[in-house]
Amino acid sequence: MKNILNEGSTYTVDIKFSGLILDNLVGLYRTHYVDAYGASKWLATTHFQPVYARRVFPCFDEPSFKAPFEISIARRTNMTALSNMPLRETEPMKGNPDWVWDHFHQTPPMSTYLVAFTISNMESIAAENTTGGTTIRVWAPRADLHLTKYALDVALEIVPFMEEYFGVKFPLPKLDMLAIPNFGKAAMENWGLISFRKSSLLFDTNSKSIKTKSFILAKIAHELSHQWFGNLVTMEWWSDLWLNEGFGTFMAEVVITKLRPKWHSYSSIKIRDTYNTLYADSLKSTHSIQMEITSNTQIEQTFDPIIYQKGSSILKMLNFTLTENVFRKGLQQYLKKYAYSSASQDDLWSLYTRTARNESIIPQTVTVKALMHSWSTQSGYPMITITRDYSTQTAILNQTKFTENLENTTSDALWYVPVTYITKGDNTVRVVWLENNRETKLNLTGIGNDSWILLNVDETG
Ligand SMILES: [Zn+2]
Repeated sequence: MKNILNEGSTYTVDIKFSGLILDNLVGLYRTHYVDAYGASKWLATTHFQPVYARRVFPCFDEPSFKAPFEISIARRTNMTALSNMPLRETEPMKGNPDWVWDHFHQTPPMSTYLVAFTISNMESIAAENTTGGTTIRVWAPRADLHLTKYALDVALEIVPFMEEYFGVKFPLPKLDMLAIPNFGKAAMENWGLISFRKSSLLFDTNSKSIKTKSFILAKIAHELSHQWFGNLVTMEWWSDLWLNEGFGTFMAEVVITKLRPKWHSYSSIKIRDTYNTLYADSLKSTHSIQMEITSNTQIEQTFDPIIYQKGSSILKMLNFTLTENVFRKGLQQYLKKYAYSSASQDDLWSLYTRTARNESIIPQTVTVKALMHSWSTQSGYPMITITRDYSTQTAILNQTKFTENLENTTSDALWYVPVTYITKGDNTVRVVWLENNRETKLNLTGIGNDSWILLNVDETG
């Protein structure tokens, strides 16, 4: 550089960059499938999370750096290009009649790991989301197109539900969901262009399998919830990934419980994930869901089942503790305050603490940050023992870290636990707090010594 750069001035940096299209399922990669007539079809698609956008274009490839993107793609005339935003214009390529340029509308400010595009021969079915005017399309190879209707119907139900839940319209003018023949993850929430493995999106409507239906519905709900929580507002750094993924998993359960109450999703399907995770989190090999991240390899390793399931379980506990109304209100404030920007989990916790204190929902001695940190920064979880003293009509609640081999427990770890309980003849769910201390006393005067007491109502605390 010949001249000295002046502070406060704006400079445009023009970088020429080229990269290879490999078949390694990350960055911009190519893959192929056999179509209905036995012919091999190629497609190119992207997967950038967490650190692969930098392989395709030069960028500050970290979630907190947001920028608007203007994407142009050259393609053969017999193929279709898709990106995060709708197509603005198609331009002929000079001297090359078989090729054209597709120019897409500029995106709102967004993180690089959510940028996406695909060039393929896939076909789609479409419908309009009537509440927000968003066009929703589901794409698949032609031979699979008849398996896309379930996903489209489900998305048409979930998008308006989430618009209402989050108090924010779907943030982009369109939504494409793709059934990619070879995809490394079950799904990826690219903004406005969600990629799915075929088995996570396609469903034969002649099948009656509730298990498959709920699996697909949960996957779609999870990815759709990221369009707001994760994409519109993004975590500042990957150490908060558990909140992003735990939230997607939590929202999938909310959606299924509200939209398909007859499936009894928690007791039939979800409980298995919960108990598998409780077991994994009781082993020596477990880790806290909040982790310090200093290398790219660590980011990849963070995506494990514990962060999804434990993250979801503790958000479920928070939702119950704050009440559904306060939980949603705090979330809506968070999404409005940090829209098109990034935030840390503590930004969300402080919004919750303020509302919860105002409405006297949590004790003055508890903050939502302290509650959530006790669960996210420590591995494992407490086992709570209740010992009832009938002579004084009280009970003592005691917490100890649960490990696979209880005899070896020597941990000093303590948690904030809002312990829920009901008693015989009183269906009101009450809460007694273990506030980061070993024991607390519960007063049972008036409930009678012949009455039973049940803790951890519906596994919410
Ligand atoms: Zn996710």
